[in-house]
Amino acid sequence: MPPRTPASSARSRPLGSSTTSPLPRHFAVVGAGLAGIACARTLINAGHRVTVFEKSDEVGGRMASHHSPFGSFDAGAQYFTIRDERFALALDTVPGVFRPWSANAIRVLDATGHVASASQPPGEAHWVANPDMQALAVAWAEPLRQGGHLHTNAHVVAIERDPLKPKHWQVRAQAPDGAQQVVAGFDAVLLAQPADPARSLLTQSGIQTPLVADIAGVITAPCWTMMLAFPQSVRPGLTTLGPQWNAARSTHHRIAWLARESSKPQRGIVERWTVQASPAWSHEHINDDSSRVQAKLLKAFAEVTGIRAEPGYVEMRRWRYAQTTQPLGKSHLFDSQNGIGACGDWCLGHRLEDAFISGLELALAVNASVNA
Ligand SMILES: Cc1cc2nc3c(=O)[nH]c(=O)nc-3n(C[C@H](O)[C@H](O)[C@H](O)COP(=O)(O)OP(=O)(O)OC[C@H]3O[C@@H](n4cnc5c(N)ncnc54)[C@H](O)[C@@H]3O)c2cc1C
Repeated sequence: MPPRTPASSARSRPLGSSTTSPLPRHFAVVGAGLAGIACARTLINAGHRVTVFEKSDEVGGRMASHHSPFGSFDAGAQYFTIRDERFALALDTVPGVFRPWSANAIRVLDATGHVASASQPPGEAHWVANPDMQALAVAWAEPLRQGGHLHTNAHVVAIERDPLKPKHWQVRAQAPDGAQQVVAGFDAVLLAQPADPARSLLTQSGIQTPLVADIAGVITAPCWTMMLAFPQSVRPGLTTLGPQWNAARSTHHRIAWLARESSKPQRGIVERWTVQASPAWSHEHINDDSSRVQAKLLKAFAEVTGIRAEPGYVEMRRWRYAQTTQPLGKSHLFDSQNGIGACGDWCLGHRLEDAFISGLELALAVNASVNA
């Protein structure tokens, strides 16, 4: 378990606090990634009503995992680090869901795949959720699901003023079959989406708020991700193919990161790799056909790892808003006059912990403004 110290004050306590608000309000949270989950749970624990809308059929957002016949892949976030004690405290509420990953000494490779250095800040552990990264989001979202607060397959397409109570908001959500549902009576709408979709939703809804200009300064990069399985490597006397390291950052112009999924704890023995293309190359090829991108990344993978065997399984994933390159510079945005807020990793950086802290701090700010 990570080293931790008690929370400094009740106000900063995430997920499990019992600081009940004297004025319970009803909030819509758009997005059930880590930021949305942290925000929703903190507001519920403060005594408010919360409805979470998630466009996908499951929670986790960029913490998604992919399941194949040969084992799972972490298609988005690969691992997490713990730097904020509030994140550590929240992890305490789900013991057993995460474990250390001894990807020890993550390599830095030069463009030809040669090890340039072993980079890892001293003492910083790498943690992974079990049985896959998405499991952490699922565990934290479970009270939301059980409490009936979570609407999945609910893509928010518009935020409108509530015709019955003009100071309130209503949310228009669309199901995958195109059917629309309007849920009304919200005191505030809190966006927990990536920056670009959050700004588009505000603009398309015609909402006049300073948040639109604030979010415009945030820049994110895409990421093409390739997942490979080599079932032929499961033979007596042959435990792995190719290099002896399990994770590496690479300066190859196509590939930025590679990790051996099968090296993560309790993930199954079939040799599996997740390969993330570099932000610049992903940007250049973001609209290319998936099979064309796959062919180019497979070639680069062979160059970097020396593995020239044909994978038995390949899956591609295109992340349009993968990684923040220019963050907002503060933990959240809240326009208390209009009742519109925004959170997400992009406020602070590009890590899971940034998303969690952003969602938590937006909820604390909203609760404080209600009680002011
Ligand atoms: C390829 C990749 C690798 C990464 N690797 C790491 C790593 O190793 N370590 C690390 O710490 N971080 C990593 N990250 C970053 C990490 O995944 C993010 O920081 C974190 O998951 C962001 O959480 P979030 O809640 O802010 O946003 P998201 O996870 O993007 O959640 C937003 C949610 O909003 C939903 N949504 C969007 N629009 C709507 C709408 N209109 N209506 C309803 N729902 C909507 C989405 O479906 C999604 O579920 C990686 C990300 C990617 C893509």
